[in-house]
Amino acid sequence: MIPKKQKAKPRVAFFDFTSCEGCQLTVIDALQYHPELLDVIDIVEFREASSDSSDVYDIAFIEGSCTRASDEMRLRTIRDTASVVVALGACAHLGGINAIRNKQELDDVRHYVYDGKADWFATYAPRAISKVIEVDLVVPGCPISGAEFVRLVKGLLQGRMLEPIDYPLCIECKLKENVCVYQRGEICLGPITRAGCDAVCPMYGAGCEGCRGMITNPNMDAFYTVLREHGLSQAEVETKLTLFLTNQTMSMSREEAVHVEPTH
Ligand code: SF4
Ligand code: SF4
Ligand code: SF4
Repeated sequence: MIPKKQKAKPRVAFFDFTSCEGCQLTVIDALQYHPELLDVIDIVEFREASSDSSDVYDIAFIEGSCTRASDEMRLRTIRDTASVVVALGACAHLGGINAIRNKQELDDVRHYVYDGKADWFATYAPRAISKVIEVDLVVPGCPISGAEFVRLVKGLLQGRMLEPIDYPLCIECKLKENVCVYQRGEICLGPITRAGCDAVCPMYGAGCEGCRGMITNPNMDAFYTVLREHGLSQAEVETKLTLFLTNQTMSMSREEAVHVEPTH
């Protein structure tokens, strides 16, 4: 936590690991709409937006997943320096899309991607940064919500640590009065996914892909019941659960995570 008596502006640094950098771009976009934040924080490192660099900072936002042993040392240095560490986006929070490959043999993946040069590139199973260092806060999503980022920064400036919402997306979706995509025979991960994005995908007619991660203690039995009732196949569900939730489902027992009886 930032000391309440700190008089100087908090020094904020942004770091990227394995990612598409879309969350950093969302931060830049959010700051264009909230320039007042730039009066009360001092951004000392942000490769996407500035050539400045510093080894001294109070708040570290980390985008991207940890995908190789050498990332771990860099993460520990950031943790040792910052008072507050925030995982920025699904890659840092969950391992993200990068973790899709974790269900495959690592050597197969490396040779598929790098062919004869596989040995040139060090890599291992992508993981959330919380698997390596302690993380104080998370801004979930792929990409993050700019509004949620701004709220979190304002909270930190007021000495509050704003935890992300921890109830299912279906609640938000029902409040928006969206038509449930299951009524069209499509899959949606809303029953097990963390709300907070205004149910943006169902609002535009698409099923939720789970980019904000699963809620704590998702009711998988009820979720499977919904799937069975709509005649959806196990293969379809596995594909959905792989996009963002590979690491979370792999950490559950296989029986618990994917147990959808085909109905046809
Ligand atoms: S969470 Fe999504 S938008 Fe953000 S860095 Fe990862 S892939 Fe890009
Ligand atoms: S569309 Fe998805 S999030 Fe919305 S109510 Fe249906 S299952 Fe829940
Ligand atoms: S609806 Fe689901 S996939 Fe879409 S932004 Fe929200 S959490 Fe992510």
